[in-house]
Order: sequence, then structure tokens, then C-alpha cells
Amino acid sequence: MTAPRKKLYIRTFGCQMNVADSQAMAQALAPDYALAARAEDADLFLINTCAIRRKSEEKVKSLLGSLKVFKKTRPQLLIGVGGCVAQQEGERLLAAAPHLNLVFGPRALRRLPELVARGQRGERPVDVELTPGIAEEPCTAQPGRVQALVTIMQGCDNFCAFCVVPYVRGREESREPAAILREVAAFLAGGGLEVTLLGQNVNSYGRGLPESVTFPELLRRVAALPGMARVRFATSHPRDLSPELIALFGELPALCPHLHLPVQSGANRILAAMNRGYTREEYLDRVAALKSACPGIALTTDLIVGFPGETEADFEDTLTLMREAAFDAAFSFKYSPRPQTRAASFPGQVAEAVKAARLARLQALQEELTLRSNARLVGQVSEVLVEGASRRSPRELSGRLRSNQVVNFPGPPDLVGRLATVELTEAHPHSLKGRWVEASSTSWPLVA
Ligand code: SAM
Ligand code: SF4
Repeated sequence: MTAPRKKLYIRTFGCQMNVADSQAMAQALAPDYALAARAEDADLFLINTCAIRRKSEEKVKSLLGSLKVFKKTRPQLLIGVGGCVAQQEGERLLAAAPHLNLVFGPRALRRLPELVARGQRGERPVDVELTPGIAEEPCTAQPGRVQALVTIMQGCDNFCAFCVVPYVRGREESREPAAILREVAAFLAGGGLEVTLLGQNVNSYGRGLPESVTFPELLRRVAALPGMARVRFATSHPRDLSPELIALFGELPALCPHLHLPVQSGANRILAAMNRGYTREEYLDRVAALKSACPGIALTTDLIVGFPGETEADFEDTLTLMREAAFDAAFSFKYSPRPQTRAASFPGQVAEAVKAARLARLQALQEELTLRSNARLVGQVSEVLVEGASRRSPRELSGRLRSNQVVNFPGPPDLVGRLATVELTEAHPHSLKGRWVEASSTSWPLVA
């Protein structure tokens, strides 16, 4: 008889890329470890970290601190720190936390079983090699689920002046199209409905591959796989968003009408200092082209306030751009100086109080824009992929439209994991309310 598998608990911080990496960790360790729902049951506790802002890094360090007491009652527990903070801090984490057993960066996932085995033998391994090898990385699509995150590339070569990603995730590397198609096809064959293709800048997909395949070509092939109901992708860099990719939003029925297109700032001076490679005008031209290729497309973005040198007039330019683009939602951040990045040593660092005041004004404007765009949807009958119980009211279900807005509605629990047709009845600043009309048949497109 084989020994029962041990229990693995993973706490994930940060973006979708990190969520996908956590799934890859679980997959890599699956022969020996089953996922535990509660930290209390864990034999191995992994923290998958984010270094994008100082605040995210601090949260990780405070969790690691609190695990010291936790481990006193479970001396057998192994603790590992992975992801971007692990890459950045390496050995320093081991020195600061004697209860920590292993440290591994985002490019070491395929070596995780060996690192854990060394941890069990009492070693304290650190693996922060930024070596290429995406072909050997474990798959991230989880069998039996209806939504999958599929990593199509790793790393980033863009070096935006504020961003730590190129330093902690290494050089860009694309995965072979055949491997991606195999993973997605297997996921769909098991009943999967929605796939999100992930990379830091999917538009540069394909560089360095033996077969010359661009991102639009990959997307066409993925969208054409039998059973594909919804396909999305993130993230798209505005500089590289080609007319060919824009046109696909009007051509591929499975491609969801939503694009996350991080603009960061509306001021040309700041965009140049950020090394973003586009102007406000070029960005807005692409927005217009997207809206004409796919009327009703939802656009979301990322915004940074208080980048070094940002004046009140620059900030006002960001607000006017937000109105012109009419974003449906935005993630917005106070600029946070990161180690190794160029902007950390730029002159004109903006005071925290100024950043906080600008962020509050920006978020109030976005709330107004989101409410307005949600209100336009009221009265429509739309397809929702039901993800689970609503967080606010467990008697309601929650899911997403093809255009990505969250919809909460009363309905039977057996709708979870299925497509449902819902009439949208009320708009709120962060979601919509709906009335269940019917469970959709499994064929698609269900509602245009
Ligand atoms: N690769 C994506 C792109 O180019 O848009 C996103 C990468 S990053 C994980 C997500 C967002 O974090 C960025 O779009 C940016 O708005 C924000 N971000 C990155 N570095 C930051 C910093 N130093 N301070 C504040 N926000 C930051
Ligand atoms: Fe960071 Fe820029 Fe690369 Fe995005 S494109 S990960 S913001 S360096």
C-alpha cells in the first residue's frame, strides 16, 4: 500500500500570474502532497510572494513572522517562501527567519520537489536561479475546474522604470504553442469553459521560438479548440497592441469582449519617464480602434499616482484620460520605489500625503465611471459564468459576464460552474445585481 499523501497549504499574494504559479507548485508536488483547505492541517506551508509594491512585501514578512509561533506547536512543519520576494531577498530571508526551511524564486518551480526533499533532510536550500526552461514547468490548468489560468510566457524584457518584474522574473521566454494547445484541449475535454492566457506582455509572445507564431495566431488556434466557451488574456502592453489583435475582438466568437490595457498615466512626460513607449494620444487611438472593432468592449486599466516628478497638471492629465477612455474599472496604486529599478533614484519623489490625496481623487472618479458603465448594462439579458456563492450574501450566487463585470443573483447552488442566463437589474459601483432567467444549454454562444 502506498503511504497517504502529506498536506500542502499555499498562501498566494499578488497577481493572476502568482495564482497560476501556485497552481504549478501544487501540480509539481502532487505525487507527494494533496492540497489542504486549512493551514492547521499542513505538513508543508508555502508562501507565494509579490514584490511589486513595498506594502505587498511587508504583508509577506509579517505572515512569515507570525508562522514562527505557529511552528512551535508543529515542529514537523516545513515552511517555504517562493515567488518574487524570495527572488529578491534570497539568503537574507533565511537569515531573518530561523524557522524558514526553503526559499525559491519564480523560475525554480520545476525543481520544487527536490528542494522540498532537501528541506525534509534538514538542509535549508535557496534556489533563485533565473534559468530558462519554461518547457519543463508544470501545467497550471486544474483538471475538474471550469476556469483555467494558462501561462504562455514568463519573464519580461520591458524594463518600465518603476517595475521590479524584469529583475525578479527574469528574461522573457515563450512556451511552445503545441504545449499550450495540448494543455488547453485537455482542460476543455474535462468540462472546462473559460481559459485565460497569461504573460507579462502577451503581445511579444513567440519571440525566440523555433516555430514562428505570433500572439494573434496563437489566440486564433486556442479559440478554435472544441468546447471553448470563453477565452481571455492578460496582460497586453499598449505599445505592442497591434491592429491584427484588435481586429480579433470582432472576429472570434469565443474571445471575451474585455481587455485589460494598463495605461499607468495620462501625461506624456510621465509616460516617457516611465519608459512605456507610447503617448497618451497613441493610447487613446488604440482605445478608439478597440471600441470600433468591438462595440461594447469593456476596458480596464492599471494606474500609478505620484510617479517621481508627477505634477498636479500631470495628474489632471491622468484624470482627463480616464474620462476619455471611459474605463469600466481600474486598479490604481501609489507609486512605490522598488529595489534595482531606475525610478527609485529619480529626483522629484512625491510626498506620501500627496500620493494619498491623488489616489483618493482618482478612485472617486473611477467609481463614478464604473457605476455609469454598469448602469448602461441594466435591462440586458446576459450570460454569466457562475463561480460560487456571493461573498456578501451566501444565499446569492456570483459570477462574471463575458465583459468581466461581477454579477450577483439569487439562484440554485447547482448553477455553480455553469453558464446561466441572467437579467441585469441593478448597478452598483463594483458589481451588478441580476435575476436568474435560465441555466444555459452547454452550447454557445448563448447570448450575444
Ligand atoms: N505586465 C503588466 C503591464 O505591463 O501592465 C503588469 C505588471 S504589474 C504586476 C501590475 C501593475 O502593478 C502595473 O501595471 C502597475 O500599475 C503596478 N506597479 C508596478 N510597479 C509598481 C510600483 N513600483 N509602484 C506602484 N505600482 C506599481
Ligand atoms: Fe513591469 Fe513593464 Fe514588464 Fe509590465 S511590461 S511587467 S509593468 S516591466
